[in-house]
Amino acid sequence: MDTRKPLIAGNWKMFKTVAEAVQTASKLASLCQDLTSDSDREVMIAPPFTALSSVHGVIEGAASIHMGAQNMFYEKQGAYTGEISPDMVLSTGCTHVIIGHSERRQYFNEQDETINQKTAAAIKAGLVPILCVGETEKQRESEETFSVLDKQIRIGLKGFSVDELELLVLAYEPVWAIGTGKTATSGQAQEVHSFLRNQLEKNYSNVLANSVRILYGGSVKPDNISELMNMPDVDGVLVGGASLSADTFSQIVHY
Ligand code: PEP
Repeated sequence: MDTRKPLIAGNWKMFKTVAEAVQTASKLASLCQDLTSDSDREVMIAPPFTALSSVHGVIEGAASIHMGAQNMFYEKQGAYTGEISPDMVLSTGCTHVIIGHSERRQYFNEQDETINQKTAAAIKAGLVPILCVGETEKQRESEETFSVLDKQIRIGLKGFSVDELELLVLAYEPVWAIGTGKTATSGQAQEVHSFLRNQLEKNYSNVLANSVRILYGGSVKPDNISELMNMPDVDGVLVGGASLSADTFSQIVHY
């Protein structure tokens, strides 16, 4: 049984002022008018925190476009200057949250244990966690890819029951392919996605493994999306650079 509706997600990272974000989101909403909640695919955009409320205002009517945050803290509230709580994320209209992006791991020293706490907080708040995992070039060259990914999902998903993971989305993002123009071949992506699904089956259940969507991320463009989406275990994509233009992202959405 395969009920995995493809998810095409865009991560705008630290780009766009409020006005720019609203303009891009409006254009995207009009380019995606053909998509409804019954469509065969879902779209999600993750603008910067500052633009979430305003962007929500323009995509509210677009049934198939969801909105996510790029990160959040795991505490409910408190003296954590500069941080954003799950309830704050929810209050802007977000339904999704990206957790453990490689840039968070690399530049903000996020560890698997923290990522686990953030994933737990997202699940508790009813947000769809998009948990990012991926190996560096050095790790791939030294044939550590599978052990690195195994550790990232083992610790990242520690302590959850099968039921709690119902909303989970995984994103395989090889660090060497993010923003570099280097894409994993569809074969490389499929090999890793199939490994991740097997680990979910081993650690949880066959039903869960078959229902969790696994996205690929790393230099996805209009000209490589179709090949990636043809792979049986690729259930969507997480797009960085190419999601910043509504036209380009719409081409990816309409692969
Ligand atoms: C990302 O930021 O998640 C990403 C995959 O970036 P890019 O598409 O630019 O490689």
